[in-house]
Amino acid sequence: MSKNSRVIRRLDPLGRIVLPKKYRKALDIDIKDDIEIVVQGTNIYVSKHDPGCIFCGDSNGITLFKDKPVCPECYKDIKEKNFF
Ligand SMILES: [Zn+2]
Repeated sequence: MSKNSRVIRRLDPLGRIVLPKKYRKALDIDIKDDIEIVVQGTNIYVSKHDPGCIFCGDSNGITLFKDKPVCPECYKDIKEKNFF
């Protein structure tokens, strides 16, 4: 898929569009994933929702701790201070 791939879609009567399968596949977006919608000026950006660390919101290097997203720094704090 080229860097600036483009499709034209018509909104259905309820204002919905279908994200093309090739885009979902390329961006690892699956059915029932949470999607983030951001408006900047007159543009709408759609992306896979990244929940980030439950403690600080950082979205880098997330791992799951008891099924919750946690960043490496908070994970280290949890381990060192034996919170769990
Ligand atoms: Zn964190």
